[in-house]
Amino acid sequence: MLLAFLFGACLASFCCVVIERSYQGISIVKPASHCTRCQHKLRSYELIPIFSILLQKFRCTACHQPIPKIYLLAEMSGALLFVGLSQLPLTFYSLFCGLWLLSGWLLSLTDLFYYHVEPKILYPASVVMLLLAIIGPLPLYWQQTALLFLIFLCIRLFFPQKIGDGDLQLLLCWSLFLPYQELALLVCLASLLGVLVILLSSFSRQPIKKLPFVPFLWAALAFLLWHS
Ligand SMILES: [Zn+2]
Repeated sequence: MLLAFLFGACLASFCCVVIERSYQGISIVKPASHCTRCQHKLRSYELIPIFSILLQKFRCTACHQPIPKIYLLAEMSGALLFVGLSQLPLTFYSLFCGLWLLSGWLLSLTDLFYYHVEPKILYPASVVMLLLAIIGPLPLYWQQTALLFLIFLCIRLFFPQKIGDGDLQLLLCWSLFLPYQELALLVCLASLLGVLVILLSSFSRQPIKKLPFVPFLWAALAFLLWHS
């Protein structure tokens, strides 16, 4: 379990670098990890996932500028995800759920960092999940997805800026694999969590102005799959 925790935290740290650098068009390999404010090259003890950021109290050791808390959130969620995955039995359904949770987690990271649901992750992962579901066989809910597609088309036509396009595309893909009761529960749980975070942040010095929705959908999905 400890190994899974450490592996998850390291992978999350690596994914954060990959996501950030690929969105900025920078090489993943060079330059070495550094503070984006003062360019201070991180020393080995500043590269330990979770622990370094806590020891440094969310500040760069050179320029003392704050390090965003989303790094800790990403590393903690990665660690917990892999602890969860390591507990799954070796079955076909576990493989399917593992892929779903892993791709959902990566999409949560891209949404967390750039408010973007990365189609290069969403669609290939959904296609592989669809193939696994067909091979399984696992139940698929085509009619529900078709109905949702029409509803989302109306939403996009009449309220173009109200809901993120990526969130809708993700829900559409996920709706293939969840019965309508669980899909409704997923959206309700995610929305409740989102409202709770906004309420809590309103008491802080820097209230959240824009909230990525995928991390909440992913948390709700993890809850539902864990209880299924
Ligand atoms: Zn710095």
